[in-house]
Amino acid sequence: VVPLSEIYLYSDTSGIDWQTTIQDKDSAVVVEEIKALTSDAFKLSDLRMMANKIDESIPGFPVNGSTSGVNRVYEKILLSTEQDLNIIAQGSGELVEKKIAESLDSQIAKFDRDVILKEASVYKDIGETHKEVVGKRRIRIEDRKQKRRVAALENYTCQVCGFYCEYENNGQKSWIIEVDHIIEKSQGGGEELNNLWVLCPNCHKKKTRGIITIDSITKQVKELGLDLQISNNHWE
Ligand SMILES: [Zn+2]
Repeated sequence: VVPLSEIYLYSDTSGIDWQTTIQDKDSAVVVEEIKALTSDAFKLSDLRMMANKIDESIPGFPVNGSTSGVNRVYEKILLSTEQDLNIIAQGSGELVEKKIAESLDSQIAKFDRDVILKEASVYKDIGETHKEVVGKRRIRIEDRKQKRRVAALENYTCQVCGFYCEYENNGQKSWIIEVDHIIEKSQGGGEELNNLWVLCPNCHKKKTRGIITIDSITKQVKELGLDLQISNNHWE
């Protein structure tokens, strides 16, 4: 279980200059940044209301001080919200990723396959890059959700070798599976349906090392230069 203290919530932070200290910023810039930060922020009063609906005794979400005392109900609400949130994760990134994936998987499981496919097809990449924020990583929930949609559409099964591994973790169904960008994000690839595919850790590693290749347009896959037939349940 990941302690909530590793997850921090902000609104859209893409336009914020995190490198310059506030003292060195022009006041007009600070005003613009505050506007940007609050424009789609999740209201703490709403958050508190939602938490109190679940349990009236839950204390307010702490704004100052340690986050270790944050009630777990908040974590559940934040990870399941439909709002497109940016989460800045610190500490054990892998665990935070896993937790987010599990939360999204259980949301996606409520929908039929054609609904998931439709949502995945209309997904628009907004072209944001994943900035490193001094030791923290920004996680855009909508991007994560799109990846988990693709994992669901492929039945959490490696498209190359058919690897499938389901297990249970604290009553939550999980899978060992990875969703990869065909064109890497650093090369301009996004989370469009056409640019994502589902791989097991082994095949993913082979792709990273160039042993497995995929043509981004024809989707022809090769291993050490030889053509491979792969399964596909999400590309046209
Ligand atoms: Zn595989």
